[in-house]
Amino acid sequence: MQAETVPREYSNLIGGKWKGSQGGTIESRNPATGEPVAVSPRSMADDAREAAEEARRAFDSGSWSSKRPSDRAKVLAQMAELIRAQVEGLSVRLTLENGKPLADARGELLNAANVLEYYASASRHVVGKIPRYSSADVSLVVHEPVGVCALIVPWNSPISLLSWKLGPALAAGCTVVVKPSVNTSGVSLEFVKLISRLEVPPGVINAVAGSGETIGNELVKSPLVDKVSFTGSTETGREIMAGASSNLKKVNLECGGKSTGIVFDDANLAVALPGAMWSIFRSAGQSCNAGSRLLVQESIYDDFMKRFREAASSIKVGNGLDPATEMGPLISAGQMERVLGYVESGKEQGARLSLGGERLIEGDYSRGYFVPPTIFEGVERRMRIFQEEIFGPVLCVLPFRDEEDAISISNDTRFGLAGDLWSRGLPRIMRVTQGLRTGTIWVNRHLNPGPEVPFGGYKQSGLGRETGMEGLMEYLQTKHVSLQLSESGDRVRR
Ligand code: NAD
Repeated sequence: MQAETVPREYSNLIGGKWKGSQGGTIESRNPATGEPVAVSPRSMADDAREAAEEARRAFDSGSWSSKRPSDRAKVLAQMAELIRAQVEGLSVRLTLENGKPLADARGELLNAANVLEYYASASRHVVGKIPRYSSADVSLVVHEPVGVCALIVPWNSPISLLSWKLGPALAAGCTVVVKPSVNTSGVSLEFVKLISRLEVPPGVINAVAGSGETIGNELVKSPLVDKVSFTGSTETGREIMAGASSNLKKVNLECGGKSTGIVFDDANLAVALPGAMWSIFRSAGQSCNAGSRLLVQESIYDDFMKRFREAASSIKVGNGLDPATEMGPLISAGQMERVLGYVESGKEQGARLSLGGERLIEGDYSRGYFVPPTIFEGVERRMRIFQEEIFGPVLCVLPFRDEEDAISISNDTRFGLAGDLWSRGLPRIMRVTQGLRTGTIWVNRHLNPGPEVPFGGYKQSGLGRETGMEGLMEYLQTKHVSLQLSESGDRVRR
């Protein structure tokens, strides 16, 4: 497919108006070719402040929060329809800026549509309760929107991860300021432009592009913002938690991971092998939930890994716009250097590189940031490649003896986001899932089946949950209303 080469220009959306920034612009480039694809504002703190003011005004006016849930639901459902109608064009923008294969970009956009549609219906199922009901008094417990929310997103799945925040925030009645990653500001603003066609009052959805240190930080510290919902690295999450303490903002942190796949000898290996392989190499390993550690039971290790290496070496790496491509480039030169630095560290610490490990530089590859599927075996727990999040197509493989051994190796990490388990034995599956300290465990599959279920981390992988009803409750707060019914009043009880 031939894509346009002239970069598209984008503006911020603040209080219903499209605006540039005094800070100038930032260009984002196609990581497969180095060509410029989008020019977005390099916003300054003032722009973020103005966006927060507009979101505050819109929230306090009740223009969105006091609408009927059914009216908010209608708008969310229309957003989903718009995305589906524009999925082909948006997918190309996503692939151009992020590098992922077109089919994956399409899948990401359809996920966003599905999530928004789910929250359209979920918004009509928020129910309070009446825990006290007597002739003397009645208590109502109701849920109200948290207020102004800053939605800070990364570049790896910029649209679906935004929908995980935008859907529940809007469904709850909150107003938002979206802060995309500088690497994918163009497609994020394209998405906001699309959904802002709908009848949403000005100031309900605002979007400002620019660096995390400047505008992200301004939003995190702003007294006008009630909540920050962040997806990104654990290190940034920690800074955000500290910054948000200024006015005790609510925080949701969806952070990094070092997830483990465990293959038992009773697994259906025809399913486990491609499952474990794509859990790491999908999006070139740039997924928070990537199965970057693989444990294979000793009894099947040699045969399984022989077949695994063969399959991984035949993955077609290339430009995401080529329909044959199965794995795209890394997002930037910096990310590629980081990943190759981990490869060096693995070698230095004594792991055995059994596949890949070097940048691809022949022909068209030289224009982009391509690193092929890379496998380390002979890995030990103390190694950096085993403990740190690489965020690239690098897999660490270890053999294990039994269930206890697999649980112990898996839990040896500061992260606790997700993990895959491949087995046919139900009692074993139940024992092992109970032992694993992660927010999600997929059994004989990888990735959530739909937006109805929650996602989020244990340990340093985060705070709070996204998707599912749990994700909606994160944007609501609880109010108790106590009504005294007797005319003679109530004695204060101690
Ligand atoms: P990052 O932490 O560098 O940036 C994420 C976002 O935060 C960007 O928009 C960035 O501009 C902003 N930011 C940076 N510093 C900030 C600050 N001081 N204040 C406010 N905002 C700031 O992460 P990234 O490189 O864009 O994404 C990769 C990371 O995201 C990986 O660690 C990955 O595991 C994680 N991630 C987690 C999930 C999840 O659901 N748990 C999903 C996807 C990605």
